[in-house]
Amino acid sequence: MPTMIRLAIQKSGRLSEDSLNLIRECGISFVASSYKLKTEATNFPLEILYLRDDDIPGYVQDGVADLGIVGQNVLVEAGYPALEIQALGFSKCRLSLAVPRAAAYDSVADLQGMNIATSYPAILGKYLTERGVQANLHTISGSVEIAPSIGLAEAICDIVSSGSTLLGNGLREVETVFRSEAVLIAHENLSAEKRELLEQLLFRMQAVRRARRNKYILLNAPTASLDAVKALLPGIKSPTVTPLAEEGWVSVQSVVNEDDFWHITGQLKAVGAEGILVLPIEKMIS
Ligand code: ATP
Ligand code: MG
Repeated sequence: MPTMIRLAIQKSGRLSEDSLNLIRECGISFVASSYKLKTEATNFPLEILYLRDDDIPGYVQDGVADLGIVGQNVLVEAGYPALEIQALGFSKCRLSLAVPRAAAYDSVADLQGMNIATSYPAILGKYLTERGVQANLHTISGSVEIAPSIGLAEAICDIVSSGSTLLGNGLREVETVFRSEAVLIAHENLSAEKRELLEQLLFRMQAVRRARRNKYILLNAPTASLDAVKALLPGIKSPTVTPLAEEGWVSVQSVVNEDDFWHITGQLKAVGAEGILVLPIEKMIS
């Protein structure tokens, strides 16, 4: 039987959809079903396990799964930060300390001796110790933000993305303890065959991520403006330039980074570019 690599992803939650999309964009097909606990890909030797995110680091550490996709917050809290091999750029969030809106707060020293509710005692404990603060950490697994209003704690440390949950519970964010995003993790002693499969997966993931960050751009420009256009569009190597049927005009094709895109299109128009088309790129391989 040929070697298969086993990837653990979150069964249902905030990581699930982006994890499945990433695998699909890598050109790997599989039938996902909500009740099964594992599926086999049809065109790549990959088996997908659906688990609770908290269980993923331990399973990868033990080799029950070869690979996993999990938030850095859960990975570091579990005590296995060394398993991380690639940040994936989604599920970005932060772990923050918050206190009731009316509470006085100047610095982290104000937390000395307080009761703090959190699901992340390891990360928070390290953060406080490094700052010389001793507090009583109460570990609870969910609904951390209600702890102050029911008298369980004077402060909390929890995952925040927009801050609206904190606001809704009368809390205000006072410190960022940890920044997190989804990461690919791998067992430390994979066999040579599995390592080769991992390399193939990483190659595909990189092509997908580079493509997401870039756009394909096509435009028409007067030949006289070509040098100015080229200076704005370095492209991967250099832009492709083809003459138009109309004398004195060229068509230019290149790749631009999404972050620079609006800025560059404005400048392109200013030097005489017209008919600017921008297309998504599916895969990008250097
Ligand atoms: P499970 O049932 O699998 O244990 P869970 O309830 O612990 O799920 P989710 O709320 O689905 O976890 O969050 C999974 C991960 O997504 C978190 O550990 C964190 O890395 C990230 N995350 C959490 N909240 C947000 C958010 N608001 N925005 C973006 N990412 C988030
Ligand atoms: Mg969980």
